[in-house]
Amino acid sequence: MKTRKLEIRCPLCGSVDVSYSCAPHCCFNHVCAECYATFEPVTTLAGGKVRGATPPDPLPDPADPAVACASCDSVAVYMAEDGLVCTGCGARLVLELTEVTPG
Ligand SMILES: [Zn+2]
Ligand SMILES: [Zn+2]
Repeated sequence: MKTRKLEIRCPLCGSVDVSYSCAPHCCFNHVCAECYATFEPVTTLAGGKVRGATPPDPLPDPADPAVACASCDSVAVYMAEDGLVCTGCGARLVLELTEVTPG
């Protein structure tokens, strides 16, 4: 199954012009280019697994939105037709935004 790169909407202004400003070994702080809000996405398990989900081609840039899998901690989390999926372990995931701070 094909996936596409993760898209995260700013929780305050709805823009999808959101970039990842840190690195997975540190934190998942993202910043919105429209209103400068910052937030950290997290995932929770939606239940169920997807077999054979493959990462998008080309792979996203390091500055593209990223989130860690709630099951295996992989950052190979992408969008499938009906929600997020980890292409590391196949877990179906739900995205949540935490630490929302207006810019
Ligand atoms: Zn915004
Ligand atoms: Zn996983």
